Amino acid sequence: MTGWLVVALVAGVPGSVNGYLKGQLHLHTNNSGDSATPPADAVRWYAAHGYDFIVVTDHNHVTAPPSTPTMLVIPGVELTQNVAHCVPPPPLGLRCLLHVNALFVAPPPDGKIPGPPATGASRFEIYHRALDTTRRLGGIAQLNHPNFHYAADAPLITLLARDGLTLLEVANQSWDSNDVPADKGQPTSEAIWDAVLTAGGDVFGTATDDAHHYYDARTVGASGHDVFPGDLGFVMVRAESPQKPSMKQPKSMPTMSPDLSTTSLRGMPCTTTSFTEVHSTAGYPW
Ligand SMILES: [Zn+2]
Ligand SMILES: [Zn+2]
Repeated sequence: MTGWLVVALVAGVPGSVNGYLKGQLHLHTNNSGDSATPPADAVRWYAAHGYDFIVVTDHNHVTAPPSTPTMLVIPGVELTQNVAHCVPPPPLGLRCLLHVNALFVAPPPDGKIPGPPATGASRFEIYHRALDTTRRLGGIAQLNHPNFHYAADAPLITLLARDGLTLLEVANQSWDSNDVPADKGQPTSEAIWDAVLTAGGDVFGTATDDAHHYYDARTVGASGHDVFPGDLGFVMVRAESPQKPSMKQPKSMPTMSPDLSTTSLRGMPCTTTSFTEVHSTAGYPW
């Protein structure tokens, strides 16, 4: 495998050390509908956990809370296409849930996401639509949780890598991301990434939280509901200077140097063993 992993999975690594910045590329606030945390509280939570930058990625909604003196907050959106049919169809009992994070975007002036209409039901066409939308937003694209409902396999991601896909989420720390499938014969997300790289697809791997619960995580868990906490999977980027990247250079991330030296894995808390749908936003709001 030849590729760079833009990830670190060891919670507690201090940010801003030797030019490394700790960042989160996938998190939700109450603009998603499946989180109760206001954006400002999510920003405060990540700042308290040593983060230098975060990208807020609500479902089909660009959330752009202000940065703080200690943390850069960058707008993003999880382009959430939950469609009734897709080709090829999902395995029995699963759904077509194809999600792409558009990162480092410019918030649309009217709040509407400037995506094209849906053109077809193939998984490539659905993902292509998200990549096109990401371009229109001026961002870079991350294909999320490829094994969640088996949304994307290696041949498809290889095609998308030639269509503008930049990042692949190989370690989504949500308990239901299915990165390591229990199904016999199904590849792990990491194995999918390996196959993409071997086929010539030029995508960087990322680790993320996909968090929905913060200060309320303990309460939500105590009430018996599924918990999606934060600070489990994150990226470390090596900046050329110890200063934080400028918001005037929203595409600065690809110019930073990824490094494998901080990569390791820790277990994630699992509050349940069931496999349920958590991203319920349907389509784009247009
Ligand atoms: Zn998602
Ligand atoms: Zn998400």
